[in-house]
Amino acid sequence: MKKKMALLSLVTALGLTACDQNNTQATSSNDATDSKVYKVGVDNTYPPFEFTQNGKLVGIDVDLINAIAKDQDFNIEIEQMDFSGIIPAMQAKMLDIGMGGMSITDKRKETVDFSDPYFAAGVSLVVADNNQDINSLDDLSGKKVVVKNGTVGAAFANSHNDEYGYSIIQVSDSASMFQEVTNGTADALMEDYPVISYAIATGGLKLKTVGERLTGDNYGISVLKGANDELLEKINDGLANLKENGEYEKIIATYLE
Ligand code: GLN
Repeated sequence: MKKKMALLSLVTALGLTACDQNNTQATSSNDATDSKVYKVGVDNTYPPFEFTQNGKLVGIDVDLINAIAKDQDFNIEIEQMDFSGIIPAMQAKMLDIGMGGMSITDKRKETVDFSDPYFAAGVSLVVADNNQDINSLDDLSGKKVVVKNGTVGAAFANSHNDEYGYSIIQVSDSASMFQEVTNGTADALMEDYPVISYAIATGGLKLKTVGERLTGDNYGISVLKGANDELLEKINDGLANLKENGEYEKIIATYLE
């Protein structure tokens, strides 16, 4: 099941960038070693993209940006923070690169530039595994839906609550969101399907996804808009190289097989 999901995401992600294949030539004039340390912001905890394992920060985002930095010969330092703080920190010039399973959206493109997509995701509706009443958005009238600040799930919830008649609870991290539903404070939550599937499979959470996917989107690596073309080019070149040399696939397989 997990494997199938990983492969699907991988295939979709690769498929989406297939038309970019003629851009995959990395610039080889990388001789001037950049001494700057680029600060990368990731979510507090967002397995399988970033999480602490045996005291070490690991995950797809973490491995991917480390591999890109190595491939393109630049230095990074990773900082964890509330997901909703990542773009503001970039705007305040406290971060150079934003990750955190960040979906590429038109709204975000007003403030950041995104790399080529690196993972296919999308938001699912999630309820307690013994909930028989809620099978789709149509069953949410009078219910409480919990979402995480600043996410695509929160944006979806906020723009559809009039239509479906639910109230919204906002929290700042995914673990609290899951807890609100498992302890019955909220009836449903909205989370990216690769993340909730991973949490259910590895954490034994008593949750299940229901209904159709609410959104379809792709994760991208972000830099502050208009000011970082060179860095963005390195990120895209690195990503393309990792896809070509199999390292990208290896990173995904480390977490999703
Ligand atoms: N992919 C979602 C978004 O970009 C959620 C990211 C997250 O919660 N870290 O809004």
